[in-house]
Amino acid sequence: MRPFAYNRAESAQQAVSMAATPASGARTASETQFLAGGTTLLDLMKLDSMSARTVVDINDLREPHGAINAGPDGLQLGALVRMSEAAEHPAVLHDYPVIAQSLQLAASQQIRNMASLGGNVLQRTRCQYFRDPSWTACNKRVPGSGCAAIDGVNRMHAVLGVSDRCIASYPGDFAQALTALDAIVQIRGARGFRTLRMEDLHRLPGDTPHVETVLAPGDLITGFLVPAGPWTRRSLYLKIRDRQSYEFGVATAAVALSMTGNVVDQARIALGGVAVKPWRAHEAEASLVGQPLTVASARTAADRAFAGAVTHGGNDFKPDLGRRTLVRALLQAGRMEV
Ligand code: FAD
Ligand code: SF4
Repeated sequence: MRPFAYNRAESAQQAVSMAATPASGARTASETQFLAGGTTLLDLMKLDSMSARTVVDINDLREPHGAINAGPDGLQLGALVRMSEAAEHPAVLHDYPVIAQSLQLAASQQIRNMASLGGNVLQRTRCQYFRDPSWTACNKRVPGSGCAAIDGVNRMHAVLGVSDRCIASYPGDFAQALTALDAIVQIRGARGFRTLRMEDLHRLPGDTPHVETVLAPGDLITGFLVPAGPWTRRSLYLKIRDRQSYEFGVATAAVALSMTGNVVDQARIALGGVAVKPWRAHEAEASLVGQPLTVASARTAADRAFAGAVTHGGNDFKPDLGRRTLVRALLQAGRMEV
């Protein structure tokens, strides 16, 4: 691990200003990282695939930004809430099951006790060529160096949203639940407070896969607001993975439905494991609205979701697995008692 400066912030404003002021020796503020649970950041700094010159510890911000509040307008989650706290919260379990399940099925209990919600949505890809700097070709780690995965081992890589510069999949789970439920991301930056839609937080790789989100250097996520809606209770997260615990998803689906009888009034769908970012499947949703939920209508939706899939050999199986995952998730959601 390379040497770095360690600072501890006492307020969101102080964290932002510490991050905006590069430490002596650091060239830009983007070489500053926030330390929440540290379960992504410290791993990657030790591997030398991330190299922060300054680390700003934000754990003292748990008082203002570490609470869960559920009310008639929706669910407010502080960015410093631990994954396990949200996964076990009674209102989240009862009214937002897709959120609880996406967190329960992620990582291990020890990691969930440590890791924060803000850090979770900003976790980096598990592409082995990104994590291991002995591979020289990785556009995400070293812009312009190439992509070892395109002709390499790419079984876990994305099939939706890929570019010819990067096919890395977004590895997290919780972000899909937030994306499906139209969550709002709350941000404190150098110019004050702003919000954006969760769906707009992550960028497509395009020609610049090293730029993963629309956040500016030093932007601090302070929380997430999940609006209430008639679909949140009939929601679930289905995660298909190589083993039943402590494993990233190969194909996942976050689904939320509002229904009258067997007819879908509104559908919310986000896919994971198969895409470069938490992937909202708007065409699939549109195909379900006003239709009875049947195997046939679920298959049509799944075909729409994967219409643009591009594979690279090792992941040729993923569109089919992704379609079957979505069909199963939709039919399970349709059977839920709410
Ligand atoms: P940190 O490591 O502290 O920070 C991560 C990044 O986010 C850093 O770049 C930091 O600067 C930035 N950051 C943190 N907080 C903020 C903020 N409030 N505002 C702006 N930037 C911020 N995840 C899953 O979803 N599913 C899994 O199955 C899964 N399995 C895992 C298995 C293992 C073995 C490990 C090590 C991790 C796994 N994870 C999984 C990832 C884990 O959930 C993340 O590492 C964790 O959620 C990151 O949160 P953190 O608080 O530790 O973030
Ligand atoms: Fe790097 Fe992306 Fe290629 Fe992986 S897929 S080697 S992260 S450029």
